Amino acid sequence: MKEPVFTEDDRAWMQKALVLAEQAEVAGEVPVGAVIVRDGKLIGEGFNQPITTCDPTSHAELVALRHACKQEKNYRLPGATLYVTLEPCSMCAGALVHARIQDVVFAAKEPKSGALVSTQEFFLSPQLNHRVLCRHGLEADTAGDMLSQFFKRRRDEKKRQKQHQKQHQKH
Ligand SMILES: [Zn+2]
Repeated sequence: MKEPVFTEDDRAWMQKALVLAEQAEVAGEVPVGAVIVRDGKLIGEGFNQPITTCDPTSHAELVALRHACKQEKNYRLPGATLYVTLEPCSMCAGALVHARIQDVVFAAKEPKSGALVSTQEFFLSPQLNHRVLCRHGLEADTAGDMLSQFFKRRRDEKKRQKQHQKQHQKH
């Protein structure tokens, strides 16, 4: 496979997505951020928030998609690019096809649920009548480190809670 080419603009937009991912983390959510850009303009942004909104569909991509569609007053966004810090899942990939997004740039791969290159190549499904282009690997280390540190902290926290409970049972 050819190495993807990233422009300075791509880098700047992914930085913005990373800042949004940090906001998710502050809210106690898995840190994933996304922005949607068309004609060099930001039209939508979002971060992962399924827990705080009690909505399993509140992935960063879909929050950004809803924001952009509302702003553009259109359920389709031809010519738009989505930048996201983690490989989209099949739900998000499906929604991006429905929205007629032109291309997707993602940072880190998601080996368990990523639907673009990891578990399947959703955008290459032959039955789709709209082809979304996909590039990945931009800021993959930064986004990946943010996620693994988040999960490590969460594991440590759970361990601490368990120890705390054990101590209480003794008394
Ligand atoms: Zn998703």
